[in-house]
Amino acid sequence: MLQQNQDNLSAAFDRQKAAFARDPFPDIDARRDRLRRLLALTEDHEAEFCGAIDADFGGRSAHETRLAEIIVVRAGIRHALSHLSSWMADKRVPTAMPFWPARNRLVPQPLGVVGIVSPWNYPFQLALAPATAALAAGNRVLIKPSELTPRFSDLLASLAAQHFAPDELDVIVGGPDVGKAFVALPFDHLLFTGSTTVGRQVAVAAAANLTPVTLELGGKSPAIFDPSCNLDTAVASVAYGKLLNAGQTCIAPDYLMVPKGQGAAIAGRLAGAMAKLYPRIADNPDYTAIISDRHHARLTSLVEEVRARGAEVIEVNPAGENFGNTRKLAPMIVRNAPYDTRLMQEEIFGPVLPIIEYGDVSEAIGHINGRDRPLALYWFGKDKAARRRVLRETVSGGVTINDCLMHIAQENQPFGGVGPSGMGAYHGEWGFRTFSKEKPVFVQSPLGAGGMMHPPYGATFERTLRLFKLMT
Ligand code: NAD
Repeated sequence: MLQQNQDNLSAAFDRQKAAFARDPFPDIDARRDRLRRLLALTEDHEAEFCGAIDADFGGRSAHETRLAEIIVVRAGIRHALSHLSSWMADKRVPTAMPFWPARNRLVPQPLGVVGIVSPWNYPFQLALAPATAALAAGNRVLIKPSELTPRFSDLLASLAAQHFAPDELDVIVGGPDVGKAFVALPFDHLLFTGSTTVGRQVAVAAAANLTPVTLELGGKSPAIFDPSCNLDTAVASVAYGKLLNAGQTCIAPDYLMVPKGQGAAIAGRLAGAMAKLYPRIADNPDYTAIISDRHHARLTSLVEEVRARGAEVIEVNPAGENFGNTRKLAPMIVRNAPYDTRLMQEEIFGPVLPIIEYGDVSEAIGHINGRDRPLALYWFGKDKAARRRVLRETVSGGVTINDCLMHIAQENQPFGGVGPSGMGAYHGEWGFRTFSKEKPVFVQSPLGAGGMMHPPYGATFERTLRLFKLMT
Protein backbone atom coordinates (compact mmCIF):
# COMPACT_ATOMS: atom_id res chain seq x y z
CA MET A 1 0.00 0.00 0.00
CA LEU A 2 1.23 3.47 -0.79
CA GLN A 3 2.77 5.29 2.14
CA GLN A 4 0.30 8.13 1.53
CA ASN A 5 -2.68 5.78 2.07
CA GLN A 6 -1.09 4.47 5.25
CA ASP A 7 -0.55 8.04 6.47
CA ASN A 8 -4.17 8.99 5.66
CA LEU A 9 -5.42 5.95 7.49
CA SER A 10 -3.31 6.64 10.57
CA ALA A 11 -4.36 10.31 10.51
CA ALA A 12 -8.05 9.38 10.35
CA PHE A 13 -7.61 6.99 13.28
CA ASP A 14 -5.58 9.47 15.38
CA ARG A 15 -8.15 12.20 14.74
CA GLN A 16 -10.92 9.99 16.12
CA LYS A 17 -8.81 8.85 19.06
CA ALA A 18 -8.13 12.48 20.01
CA ALA A 19 -11.83 13.39 19.62
CA PHE A 20 -12.82 10.51 21.88
CA ALA A 21 -10.29 11.64 24.49
CA ARG A 22 -11.85 15.12 24.43
CA ASP A 23 -15.39 13.76 24.82
CA PRO A 24 -15.29 10.26 26.31
CA PHE A 25 -19.00 10.14 27.16
CA PRO A 26 -21.17 11.87 24.53
CA ASP A 27 -24.52 12.69 26.13
CA ILE A 28 -27.84 11.48 24.78
CA ASP A 29 -28.41 14.64 22.74
CA ALA A 30 -25.09 14.26 20.93
CA ARG A 31 -25.80 10.60 20.18
CA ARG A 32 -29.35 11.33 19.00
CA ASP A 33 -28.01 14.06 16.75
CA ARG A 34 -25.53 11.61 15.15
CA LEU A 35 -28.24 8.98 14.68
CA ARG A 36 -30.59 11.56 13.14
CA ARG A 37 -27.87 12.65 10.71
CA LEU A 38 -27.33 9.00 9.78
CA LEU A 39 -31.08 8.65 9.23
CA ALA A 40 -31.06 11.76 7.02
CA LEU A 41 -28.17 10.31 5.01
CA THR A 42 -30.26 7.18 4.31
CA GLU A 43 -33.46 9.14 3.58
CA ASP A 44 -32.11 11.91 1.37
CA HIS A 45 -30.01 9.78 -0.95
CA GLU A 46 -32.04 6.61 -1.49
CA ALA A 47 -32.10 6.88 -5.29
CA GLU A 48 -28.34 7.57 -5.45
CA PHE A 49 -27.58 4.52 -3.29
CA CYS A 50 -29.88 2.29 -5.38
CA GLY A 51 -28.24 3.57 -8.57
CA ALA A 52 -24.68 3.09 -7.33
CA ILE A 53 -25.33 -0.46 -6.10
CA ASP A 54 -27.18 -1.32 -9.32
CA ALA A 55 -24.17 -0.14 -11.34
CA ASP A 56 -21.72 -2.03 -9.11
CA PHE A 57 -23.61 -5.30 -9.52
CA GLY A 58 -24.30 -4.79 -13.22
CA GLY A 59 -27.98 -5.18 -12.27
CA ARG A 60 -29.34 -5.08 -8.70
CA SER A 61 -33.07 -4.68 -8.15
CA ALA A 62 -33.80 -1.27 -6.58
CA HIS A 63 -36.71 -2.94 -4.78
CA GLU A 64 -34.31 -5.35 -3.10
CA THR A 65 -31.88 -2.54 -2.22
CA ARG A 66 -34.72 -0.62 -0.62
CA LEU A 67 -36.24 -3.60 1.20
CA ALA A 68 -33.18 -5.57 2.28
CA GLU A 69 -30.81 -2.66 2.88
CA ILE A 70 -32.23 0.82 3.24
CA ILE A 71 -35.46 0.05 5.11
CA VAL A 72 -33.66 -2.41 7.40
CA VAL A 73 -31.05 0.22 8.33
CA ARG A 74 -33.69 2.91 8.86
CA ALA A 75 -35.70 0.61 11.12
CA GLY A 76 -32.53 -0.05 13.12
CA ILE A 77 -31.78 3.68 13.52
CA ARG A 78 -35.36 4.44 14.59
CA HIS A 79 -35.28 1.53 17.05
CA ALA A 80 -32.01 2.86 18.52
CA LEU A 81 -33.42 6.41 18.77
CA SER A 82 -36.47 5.26 20.67
CA HIS A 83 -34.58 2.96 23.08
CA LEU A 84 -31.40 4.97 23.56
CA SER A 85 -32.28 6.48 26.90
CA SER A 86 -33.07 3.10 28.49
CA TRP A 87 -29.98 1.49 26.94
CA MET A 88 -27.76 4.31 28.27
CA ALA A 89 -29.21 4.25 31.78
CA ASP A 90 -27.16 2.76 34.62
CA LYS A 91 -28.67 -0.64 35.52
CA ARG A 92 -29.25 -1.55 39.15
CA VAL A 93 -28.13 -5.11 39.84
CA PRO A 94 -28.66 -6.99 43.13
CA THR A 95 -26.11 -6.75 45.95
CA ALA A 96 -25.50 -9.81 48.16
CA MET A 97 -26.68 -9.34 51.77
CA PRO A 98 -23.24 -9.24 53.50
CA PHE A 99 -22.44 -6.08 51.50
CA TRP A 100 -25.65 -4.19 52.36
CA PRO A 101 -26.39 -1.31 52.36
CA ALA A 102 -23.92 -0.80 49.50
CA ARG A 103 -25.32 -0.93 45.96
CA ASN A 104 -24.20 -2.41 42.62
CA ARG A 105 -24.56 -0.66 39.27
CA LEU A 106 -23.80 -1.66 35.70
CA VAL A 107 -22.67 1.46 33.83
CA PRO A 108 -22.52 1.29 30.01
CA GLN A 109 -19.66 3.32 28.59
CA PRO A 110 -18.44 3.96 25.01
CA LEU A 111 -15.33 1.96 24.10
CA GLY A 112 -13.65 4.60 21.91
CA VAL A 113 -12.87 4.16 18.21
CA VAL A 114 -14.69 1.32 16.44
CA GLY A 115 -13.56 -0.15 13.09
CA ILE A 116 -16.10 -1.68 10.71
CA VAL A 117 -15.03 -3.76 7.69
CA SER A 118 -17.90 -4.61 5.36
CA PRO A 119 -18.48 -6.88 2.33
CA TRP A 120 -20.03 -6.23 -1.09
CA ASN A 121 -23.20 -8.33 -0.99
CA TYR A 122 -25.37 -5.91 1.04
CA PRO A 123 -22.91 -3.00 1.05
CA PHE A 124 -25.28 -0.41 2.53
CA GLN A 125 -26.77 -2.53 5.31
CA LEU A 126 -23.52 -4.16 6.41
CA ALA A 127 -21.66 -0.84 6.68
CA LEU A 128 -24.42 1.20 8.30
CA ALA A 129 -26.23 -1.23 10.65
CA PRO A 130 -23.04 -1.77 12.71
CA ALA A 131 -22.33 1.99 12.50
CA THR A 132 -25.78 2.66 13.99
CA ALA A 133 -24.99 0.52 17.02
CA ALA A 134 -21.50 1.96 17.44
CA LEU A 135 -22.74 5.59 17.27
CA ALA A 136 -25.64 4.84 19.64
CA ALA A 137 -23.12 3.50 22.13
CA GLY A 138 -21.19 6.81 21.89
CA ASN A 139 -18.19 5.68 19.84
CA ARG A 140 -16.26 7.20 16.95
CA VAL A 141 -16.54 5.08 13.78
CA LEU A 142 -14.23 4.27 10.86
CA ILE A 143 -15.75 2.18 8.03
CA LYS A 144 -13.81 0.21 5.38
CA PRO A 145 -16.34 -0.89 2.72
CA SER A 146 -15.64 -3.42 -0.06
CA GLU A 147 -13.59 -2.68 -3.16
CA LEU A 148 -16.06 -4.79 -5.19
CA THR A 149 -18.73 -2.07 -4.89
CA PRO A 150 -16.56 0.96 -5.80
CA ARG A 151 -19.40 3.32 -6.77
CA PHE A 152 -21.25 2.62 -3.55
CA SER A 153 -18.08 2.98 -1.46
CA ASP A 154 -17.18 6.34 -3.05
CA LEU A 155 -20.76 7.59 -2.61
CA LEU A 156 -20.79 6.55 1.05
CA ALA A 157 -17.44 8.26 1.63
CA SER A 158 -18.60 11.54 0.08
CA LEU A 159 -22.00 11.55 1.84
CA ALA A 160 -20.43 10.64 5.17
CA ALA A 161 -18.14 13.66 4.75
CA GLN A 162 -21.20 15.87 4.15
CA HIS A 163 -23.19 14.56 7.14
CA PHE A 164 -20.42 13.96 9.71
CA ALA A 165 -17.22 15.46 10.94
CA PRO A 166 -14.38 13.05 10.12
CA ASP A 167 -13.69 12.61 13.82
CA GLU A 168 -17.27 11.28 14.28
CA LEU A 169 -17.66 8.93 11.32
CA ASP A 170 -15.27 8.47 8.44
CA VAL A 171 -15.01 6.11 5.46
CA ILE A 172 -11.74 4.63 4.23
CA VAL A 173 -11.96 3.34 0.67
CA GLY A 174 -9.67 0.58 -0.60
CA GLY A 175 -9.08 -3.11 -1.25
CA PRO A 176 -7.56 -5.97 0.74
CA ASP A 177 -4.26 -4.09 1.27
CA VAL A 178 -6.11 -1.19 2.87
CA GLY A 179 -8.20 -3.75 4.76
CA LYS A 180 -5.04 -5.37 6.17
CA ALA A 181 -3.64 -2.02 7.33
CA PHE A 182 -7.06 -1.04 8.68
CA VAL A 183 -7.48 -4.10 10.91
CA ALA A 184 -3.92 -3.69 12.21
CA LEU A 185 -4.90 -0.36 13.84
CA PRO A 186 -5.36 -0.50 17.62
CA PHE A 187 -9.15 -0.09 17.54
CA ASP A 188 -11.16 -0.36 20.73
CA HIS A 189 -13.45 -2.81 18.91
CA LEU A 190 -13.53 -4.24 15.38
CA LEU A 191 -16.60 -5.59 13.63
CA PHE A 192 -15.79 -7.55 10.50
CA THR A 193 -18.40 -8.91 8.09
CA GLY A 194 -17.10 -11.16 5.35
CA SER A 195 -15.75 -14.60 4.58
CA THR A 196 -14.58 -17.07 7.19
CA THR A 197 -11.11 -17.17 5.57
CA VAL A 198 -10.55 -13.41 5.84
CA GLY A 199 -12.28 -13.37 9.24
CA ARG A 200 -9.53 -15.66 10.57
CA GLN A 201 -6.85 -13.23 9.31
CA VAL A 202 -8.71 -10.31 10.89
CA ALA A 203 -8.88 -12.12 14.24
CA VAL A 204 -5.10 -12.73 14.10
CA ALA A 205 -4.35 -9.09 13.24
CA ALA A 206 -6.65 -7.84 16.02
CA ALA A 207 -5.06 -10.19 18.53
CA ALA A 208 -1.75 -8.33 18.17
CA ASN A 209 -3.46 -5.28 19.74
CA LEU A 210 -5.81 -7.32 21.95
CA THR A 211 -8.62 -5.58 20.07
CA PRO A 212 -11.92 -7.34 20.74
CA VAL A 213 -13.61 -8.53 17.53
CA THR A 214 -17.11 -9.29 16.40
CA LEU A 215 -16.92 -11.56 13.35
CA GLU A 216 -19.96 -11.86 11.12
CA LEU A 217 -18.97 -14.65 8.75
CA GLY A 218 -20.57 -17.10 6.33
CA GLY A 219 -20.99 -20.82 5.78
CA LYS A 220 -23.43 -23.40 4.48
CA SER A 221 -26.87 -22.76 5.99
CA PRO A 222 -29.28 -25.69 5.65
CA ALA A 223 -33.04 -25.64 5.05
CA ILE A 224 -34.90 -28.76 6.18
CA PHE A 225 -38.34 -29.85 4.99
CA ASP A 226 -39.88 -32.09 7.65
CA PRO A 227 -42.41 -34.65 6.32
CA SER A 228 -45.06 -32.64 8.24
CA CYS A 229 -44.43 -29.37 6.36
CA ASN A 230 -46.80 -27.51 4.09
CA LEU A 231 -44.91 -28.02 0.83
CA ASP A 232 -46.49 -25.13 -1.05
CA THR A 233 -45.40 -22.49 1.47
CA ALA A 234 -42.05 -24.17 2.15
CA VAL A 235 -41.13 -24.33 -1.54
CA ALA A 236 -42.21 -20.70 -2.14
CA SER A 237 -40.19 -19.53 0.85
CA VAL A 238 -36.98 -21.36 -0.11
CA ALA A 239 -37.27 -20.18 -3.73
CA TYR A 240 -37.49 -16.57 -2.51
CA GLY A 241 -34.83 -16.93 0.22
CA LYS A 242 -32.38 -18.52 -2.22
CA LEU A 243 -32.91 -16.10 -5.10
CA LEU A 244 -33.03 -12.78 -3.24
CA ASN A 245 -29.91 -10.93 -4.46
CA ALA A 246 -29.34 -13.99 -6.72
CA GLY A 247 -28.32 -16.09 -3.74
CA GLN A 248 -25.54 -13.69 -2.68
CA THR A 249 -26.92 -13.53 0.86
CA CYS A 250 -25.00 -14.71 3.92
CA ILE A 251 -28.13 -16.29 5.42
CA ALA A 252 -29.56 -17.68 2.16
CA PRO A 253 -30.45 -21.37 2.41
CA ASP A 254 -27.28 -22.92 0.97
CA TYR A 255 -28.75 -26.40 0.45
CA LEU A 256 -32.09 -28.11 1.04
CA MET A 257 -32.72 -31.38 2.91
CA VAL A 258 -35.92 -33.24 2.02
CA PRO A 259 -37.39 -36.60 3.10
CA LYS A 260 -36.10 -39.65 1.19
CA GLY A 261 -37.92 -40.27 -2.08
CA GLN A 262 -39.23 -36.70 -2.42
CA GLY A 263 -36.18 -35.05 -4.07
CA ALA A 264 -37.41 -35.22 -7.69
CA ALA A 265 -40.93 -34.00 -6.90
CA ILE A 266 -39.69 -31.14 -4.72
CA ALA A 267 -37.08 -30.12 -7.31
CA GLY A 268 -39.90 -29.83 -9.87
CA ARG A 269 -42.03 -27.73 -7.52
CA LEU A 270 -39.06 -25.50 -6.68
CA ALA A 271 -38.35 -24.92 -10.37
CA GLY A 272 -41.99 -23.90 -10.79
CA ALA A 273 -41.85 -21.52 -7.79
CA MET A 274 -38.60 -19.94 -9.05
CA ALA A 275 -40.03 -19.46 -12.55
CA LYS A 276 -43.06 -17.75 -11.02
CA LEU A 277 -40.83 -15.28 -9.16
CA TYR A 278 -38.60 -14.66 -12.18
CA PRO A 279 -40.34 -15.52 -15.48
CA ARG A 280 -37.44 -13.87 -17.28
CA ILE A 281 -33.82 -13.66 -16.14
CA ALA A 282 -31.44 -11.76 -18.43
CA ASP A 283 -33.44 -8.57 -18.87
CA ASN A 284 -35.48 -8.79 -15.66
CA PRO A 285 -34.63 -5.87 -13.35
CA ASP A 286 -36.02 -7.88 -10.39
CA TYR A 287 -33.30 -10.50 -10.78
CA THR A 288 -29.87 -9.45 -9.54
CA ALA A 289 -26.61 -10.14 -11.40
CA ILE A 290 -23.51 -11.84 -10.00
CA ILE A 291 -21.12 -9.25 -8.57
CA SER A 292 -18.09 -9.91 -10.82
CA ASP A 293 -16.87 -12.06 -13.70
CA ARG A 294 -14.65 -13.94 -11.24
CA HIS A 295 -17.61 -14.82 -9.00
CA HIS A 296 -19.69 -15.78 -12.06
CA ALA A 297 -16.93 -18.07 -13.33
CA ARG A 298 -16.57 -19.65 -9.89
CA LEU A 299 -20.28 -20.48 -9.67
CA THR A 300 -20.30 -21.90 -13.20
CA SER A 301 -17.30 -24.08 -12.41
CA LEU A 302 -18.95 -25.40 -9.19
CA VAL A 303 -21.92 -26.53 -11.30
CA GLU A 304 -19.72 -27.96 -14.08
CA GLU A 305 -17.81 -30.04 -11.57
CA VAL A 306 -20.94 -31.72 -10.16
CA ARG A 307 -22.42 -32.18 -13.64
CA ALA A 308 -19.24 -33.97 -14.71
CA ARG A 309 -19.54 -36.14 -11.59
CA GLY A 310 -23.03 -37.29 -12.60
CA ALA A 311 -25.32 -34.89 -10.71
CA GLU A 312 -28.62 -33.80 -12.22
CA VAL A 313 -28.72 -30.01 -12.84
CA ILE A 314 -32.08 -28.36 -13.50
CA GLU A 315 -31.62 -24.89 -14.97
CA VAL A 316 -34.59 -22.57 -14.41
CA ASN A 317 -34.67 -20.45 -17.55
CA PRO A 318 -38.41 -20.20 -18.27
CA ALA A 319 -38.08 -17.90 -21.30
CA GLY A 320 -35.16 -19.87 -22.77
CA GLU A 321 -33.01 -16.75 -22.77
CA ASN A 322 -29.46 -16.30 -23.89
CA PHE A 323 -27.52 -14.39 -21.23
CA GLY A 324 -25.03 -12.79 -23.62
CA ASN A 325 -22.48 -10.69 -21.81
CA THR A 326 -24.64 -9.99 -18.73
CA ARG A 327 -23.51 -11.40 -15.39
CA LYS A 328 -26.97 -12.87 -14.76
CA LEU A 329 -26.90 -16.54 -13.85
CA ALA A 330 -30.07 -18.64 -14.15
CA PRO A 331 -31.25 -20.40 -10.96
CA MET A 332 -30.12 -24.02 -10.79
CA ILE A 333 -31.38 -26.93 -8.71
CA VAL A 334 -28.94 -29.81 -8.27
CA ARG A 335 -29.70 -33.41 -7.27
CA ASN A 336 -27.33 -36.25 -6.40
CA ALA A 337 -24.18 -34.10 -6.15
CA PRO A 338 -21.29 -36.06 -4.58
CA TYR A 339 -20.33 -34.72 -1.14
CA ASP A 340 -16.65 -34.36 -2.01
CA THR A 341 -17.30 -31.62 -4.60
CA ARG A 342 -16.76 -27.88 -4.04
CA LEU A 343 -20.50 -27.25 -4.41
CA MET A 344 -21.16 -29.45 -1.39
CA GLN A 345 -18.15 -28.25 0.63
CA GLU A 346 -17.93 -24.46 0.08
CA GLU A 347 -20.48 -21.75 0.81
CA ILE A 348 -22.25 -21.42 -2.58
CA PHE A 349 -23.24 -17.73 -2.44
CA GLY A 350 -25.19 -17.81 -5.71
CA PRO A 351 -28.48 -19.04 -7.21
CA VAL A 352 -27.60 -22.75 -7.09
CA LEU A 353 -29.56 -25.01 -4.73
CA PRO A 354 -28.44 -28.60 -4.08
CA ILE A 355 -31.06 -30.98 -2.70
CA ILE A 356 -30.10 -33.75 -0.28
CA GLU A 357 -32.48 -36.55 0.76
CA TYR A 358 -32.50 -37.77 4.38
CA GLY A 359 -34.06 -40.77 6.13
CA ASP A 360 -35.18 -39.48 9.53
CA VAL A 361 -34.66 -36.49 11.80
CA SER A 362 -31.60 -38.09 13.44
CA GLU A 363 -29.95 -38.41 10.04
CA ALA A 364 -30.72 -34.76 9.21
CA ILE A 365 -29.27 -33.62 12.54
CA GLY A 366 -26.21 -35.85 12.06
CA HIS A 367 -25.57 -34.33 8.63
CA ILE A 368 -25.63 -30.78 10.04
CA ASN A 369 -23.53 -31.64 13.08
CA GLY A 370 -20.91 -33.33 10.87
CA ARG A 371 -20.13 -29.93 9.34
CA ASP A 372 -19.17 -26.41 10.45
CA ARG A 373 -21.80 -24.69 12.58
CA PRO A 374 -23.98 -22.73 10.15
CA LEU A 375 -24.91 -19.05 10.26
CA ALA A 376 -28.61 -19.82 9.75
CA LEU A 377 -30.90 -22.84 9.82
CA TYR A 378 -34.39 -23.12 8.37
CA TRP A 379 -36.87 -25.78 9.41
CA PHE A 380 -40.30 -26.24 7.88
CA GLY A 381 -42.97 -28.41 9.47
CA LYS A 382 -45.68 -28.89 12.07
CA ASP A 383 -44.24 -31.84 14.04
CA LYS A 384 -43.34 -30.21 17.38
CA ALA A 385 -41.17 -33.10 18.59
CA ALA A 386 -39.01 -33.05 15.43
CA ARG A 387 -38.75 -29.26 15.62
CA ARG A 388 -37.67 -29.40 19.28
CA ARG A 389 -34.99 -31.98 18.44
CA VAL A 390 -33.56 -29.89 15.59
CA LEU A 391 -33.55 -26.75 17.76
CA ARG A 392 -31.92 -28.50 20.72
CA GLU A 393 -29.48 -30.76 18.93
CA THR A 394 -28.00 -28.40 16.33
CA VAL A 395 -26.05 -25.18 16.94
CA SER A 396 -26.39 -22.32 14.46
CA GLY A 397 -26.18 -18.52 14.46
CA GLY A 398 -29.97 -18.12 14.17
CA VAL A 399 -33.10 -19.96 13.09
CA THR A 400 -36.28 -19.13 11.22
CA ILE A 401 -39.08 -21.67 11.45
CA ASN A 402 -41.50 -22.06 8.52
CA ASP A 403 -39.89 -19.27 6.53
CA CYS A 404 -36.47 -18.02 5.41
CA LEU A 405 -34.32 -15.00 6.37
CA MET A 406 -36.80 -13.38 8.78
CA HIS A 407 -34.73 -13.70 11.96
CA ILE A 408 -32.23 -11.14 10.63
CA ALA A 409 -34.88 -8.40 10.63
CA GLN A 410 -35.73 -8.70 14.34
CA GLU A 411 -34.26 -5.73 16.22
CA ASN A 412 -35.31 -7.37 19.50
CA GLN A 413 -33.12 -10.42 18.82
CA PRO A 414 -29.32 -10.61 18.51
CA PHE A 415 -27.84 -11.47 15.10
CA GLY A 416 -24.53 -13.30 14.77
CA GLY A 417 -22.87 -16.59 13.92
CA VAL A 418 -21.24 -19.28 16.03
CA GLY A 419 -17.80 -20.85 15.57
CA PRO A 420 -16.80 -20.77 11.88
CA SER A 421 -19.90 -18.68 11.04
CA GLY A 422 -18.89 -15.94 13.47
CA MET A 423 -18.51 -14.71 17.02
CA GLY A 424 -20.37 -12.04 18.93
CA ALA A 425 -23.61 -10.41 17.81
CA TYR A 426 -25.30 -7.10 17.11
CA HIS A 427 -28.71 -5.58 16.16
CA GLY A 428 -30.86 -3.62 18.61
CA GLU A 429 -29.69 -3.59 22.20
CA TRP A 430 -27.14 -6.35 21.47
CA GLY A 431 -25.35 -3.95 19.13
CA PHE A 432 -25.32 -1.22 21.77
CA ARG A 433 -23.87 -3.68 24.30
CA THR A 434 -21.28 -5.01 21.82
CA PHE A 435 -19.86 -1.50 21.42
CA SER A 436 -20.07 -0.58 25.13
CA LYS A 437 -18.03 -1.46 28.15
CA GLU A 438 -20.62 -2.57 30.67
CA LYS A 439 -18.70 -1.46 33.70
CA PRO A 440 -19.64 -2.98 37.05
CA VAL A 441 -19.50 -0.36 39.80
CA PHE A 442 -19.77 -1.11 43.53
CA VAL A 443 -20.95 1.89 45.55
CA GLN A 444 -19.95 1.54 49.21
CA SER A 445 -22.23 2.89 51.94
CA PRO A 446 -20.92 4.89 54.91
CA LEU A 447 -22.55 2.10 56.96
CA GLY A 448 -20.59 -0.66 55.19
CA ALA A 449 -19.06 -3.21 57.53
CA GLY A 450 -16.02 -4.16 55.42
CA GLY A 451 -13.61 -2.51 57.89
CA MET A 452 -14.53 -5.12 60.52
CA MET A 453 -12.67 -7.74 58.47
CA HIS A 454 -9.40 -5.76 58.34
CA PRO A 455 -6.35 -6.61 60.47
CA PRO A 456 -5.40 -6.84 63.22
CA TYR A 457 -7.45 -10.06 63.10
CA GLY A 458 -9.11 -11.12 66.32
CA ALA A 459 -12.51 -11.55 67.94
CA THR A 460 -14.26 -8.89 65.79
CA PHE A 461 -13.04 -10.58 62.62
CA GLU A 462 -14.26 -14.02 63.84
CA ARG A 463 -17.70 -12.66 64.84
CA THR A 464 -18.11 -10.85 61.48
CA LEU A 465 -16.95 -13.91 59.53
CA ARG A 466 -19.53 -16.09 61.37
CA LEU A 467 -22.25 -13.60 60.42
CA PHE A 468 -20.94 -13.46 56.85
CA LYS A 469 -21.16 -17.27 56.60
CA LEU A 470 -24.77 -17.24 57.85
CA MET A 471 -25.74 -14.72 55.17
CA THR A 472 -24.10 -16.41 52.17
P1 NAD B 1 -14.34 -10.87 2.07
O1 NAD B 1 -13.95 -11.56 3.32
O2 NAD B 1 -13.61 -11.22 0.82
O3 NAD B 1 -14.19 -9.27 2.21
C1 NAD B 1 -14.84 -8.54 3.23
C2 NAD B 1 -14.10 -7.25 3.47
O4 NAD B 1 -12.80 -7.54 3.99
C3 NAD B 1 -13.88 -6.36 2.26
O5 NAD B 1 -14.07 -5.01 2.63
C4 NAD B 1 -12.40 -6.60 1.91
O6 NAD B 1 -11.77 -5.52 1.26
C5 NAD B 1 -11.80 -6.81 3.28
N1 NAD B 1 -10.56 -7.61 3.29
C6 NAD B 1 -10.13 -8.50 2.38
N2 NAD B 1 -8.98 -9.07 2.79
C7 NAD B 1 -8.69 -8.52 3.99
C8 NAD B 1 -7.65 -8.73 4.94
N3 NAD B 1 -6.67 -9.61 4.74
N4 NAD B 1 -7.70 -8.03 6.09
C9 NAD B 1 -8.71 -7.17 6.34
N5 NAD B 1 -9.72 -6.94 5.48
C10 NAD B 1 -9.70 -7.61 4.32
O7 NAD B 1 -15.91 -11.13 1.92
P2 NAD B 1 -16.87 -10.74 0.72
O8 NAD B 1 -16.58 -11.60 -0.46
O9 NAD B 1 -16.89 -9.28 0.54
O10 NAD B 1 -18.30 -11.17 1.35
C11 NAD B 1 -18.83 -12.44 1.22
C12 NAD B 1 -18.71 -13.22 2.52
O11 NAD B 1 -19.25 -12.47 3.58
C13 NAD B 1 -19.52 -14.51 2.49
O12 NAD B 1 -18.78 -15.53 3.10
C14 NAD B 1 -20.75 -14.17 3.33
O13 NAD B 1 -21.38 -15.27 3.93
C15 NAD B 1 -20.16 -13.26 4.34
N6 NAD B 1 -21.20 -12.41 4.89
C16 NAD B 1 -21.56 -12.56 6.20
C17 NAD B 1 -22.59 -11.78 6.72
C18 NAD B 1 -23.02 -11.91 8.15
O14 NAD B 1 -23.76 -11.04 8.62
N7 NAD B 1 -22.60 -12.94 8.88
C19 NAD B 1 -23.22 -10.84 5.92
C20 NAD B 1 -22.81 -10.72 4.60
C21 NAD B 1 -21.80 -11.49 4.09
